[in-house]
Amino acid sequence: MSETNIGKRLAVIGGGPGGYPAAFLAADMGFAVTLIDLEANPGGVCLFRGCIPSKALLHIARVIEETAELRACGVRFEPPATDLAAVRAWKDSVVRRLTGGLGQLRAARKIEFIRGRARFADRKRLRVALADGGERELAFDAAIIATGSRPAAIPGWPVSPRIMDSTAALDLPDLPKRLLVVGGGYIGLELGSVYAALGAAVTVVEMLPGLLPGADRDLVAPLAKRLEKRLAAIRLQTKVADVREEGEALRVTLETGDGRRSEEVFDRILVSVGRKPNSGDLGLEAAGVELDARGFVKVDGQRRTSDPDIYAIGDVAGEPMLAHKATHEGRAAVEAIAGRKAVFEPRAIPAVVFTDPEIAWCGLTETQATAEGRPVKVAKFPWAASGRAMTLERTEGFTKLLADPETERVLGVGIVGPGAGEMIAEGVLAIEMGALVSDLALTIHPHPTLSETIMESAEVFYGHCTHTIAKAR
Ligand code: FAD
Repeated sequence: MSETNIGKRLAVIGGGPGGYPAAFLAADMGFAVTLIDLEANPGGVCLFRGCIPSKALLHIARVIEETAELRACGVRFEPPATDLAAVRAWKDSVVRRLTGGLGQLRAARKIEFIRGRARFADRKRLRVALADGGERELAFDAAIIATGSRPAAIPGWPVSPRIMDSTAALDLPDLPKRLLVVGGGYIGLELGSVYAALGAAVTVVEMLPGLLPGADRDLVAPLAKRLEKRLAAIRLQTKVADVREEGEALRVTLETGDGRRSEEVFDRILVSVGRKPNSGDLGLEAAGVELDARGFVKVDGQRRTSDPDIYAIGDVAGEPMLAHKATHEGRAAVEAIAGRKAVFEPRAIPAVVFTDPEIAWCGLTETQATAEGRPVKVAKFPWAASGRAMTLERTEGFTKLLADPETERVLGVGIVGPGAGEMIAEGVLAIEMGALVSDLALTIHPHPTLSETIMESAEVFYGHCTHTIAKAR
């Protein structure tokens, strides 16, 4: 298809942060767009049962913890009284406002919306099982698959309402006295932190030797230290060997890496062991769309599948399974469908763990650099030397830069501390713009802010940071 494609029929299957921005952009460009989703409004997992409800609950968790910590600054609050129904209602209202707003933006763009489950009938037609019954066939010139992902389950476990995935945990059915979180990735730690702040005794088990596999160990350390105080237990190199329902409780057998077994009883379990792409049951064979060994749709740099007029974006098209990655892939796909030169090749996709402290990183990690034998110079600025961190009584964090020792180009940025998620965008911009460390050092940052720690880590790189002493001296 060429630039003349504009005006033709584009079907977008899935209204998450991949699908709805793609549909909106295509409509703005002049395509005749149909968006199909199972929900009444666009939003997808991210808005209905992922990013947004989890961050709403994490906001409550952070304020609960901050008010308790103000004791150290001379202000004492009564312990909080939580009205779980009101918390749930507020969180749901945030989701409703956002997704309702998207519904209005969709209607204003005159995008046709079909509520139902779509499958490919062949390379040019979809069949949609409508949510209110019946079926509809839809012909398209180009299609984008943006069907996202779902929580992975552990095979062989009993089916019990006390065993929750992230969706069920976000519903906050009750406040268990004892919660077991299986999986020490970001979803388990974020939701575990929420339940802990609300008063549950939370135990985390993780099969690997550390929490948050994929993040640099030094970034994880301050979080692990804080979680050790907030959670009932963190058991690393441990797996769940058996789960049995016993009346109202769950008896769990834990097994360590060296084979030692122990039993513990919990009121609920949150299983957060990863996510799987929603690529089955889409009739992809009929459309000639191929999958890889893990079930992700195979795509090229423009997010084109093995069929030249069918594209795939977001979680269903591969890692990292993150909302902002899905959105940017969608833009590249729509531009490509319009016949423009476009490709999805970011230098950096930021990752943020919204725990307290937050962890955020982008570009090259130290772990990757070591694994690839790639020489990098690392400069770290400790937040203990940041005035702003001191005013917040949160000096445990740090900011680090990874740069090419020859060219001094910024290759990676890692931050741990409150607000790291807001700060990381500066690192992403630096990497995308091919900035040198000196660009960060020379950029005037407002004082007193945590953002100054990026500038100061750049000064550390050159050995003349105002607020730290260079090691060589
Ligand atoms: P999705 O958001 O999964 O949307 C896919 C849509 O397609 C769904 O609405 C689904 O109903 C629909 N669909 C599926 N099959 C069909 C079909 N056959 N026909 C019609 N419609 C269909 N990411 C971040 O970047 N930041 C975060 O803080 C973050 N927090 C998260 C917290 C939790 C608890 C979870 C579970 C995820 C979180 N994520 C986060 C991940 C993020 O939600 C996903 O990466 C993102 O939603 C992927 O977007 P997507 O458009 O690919 O698909």
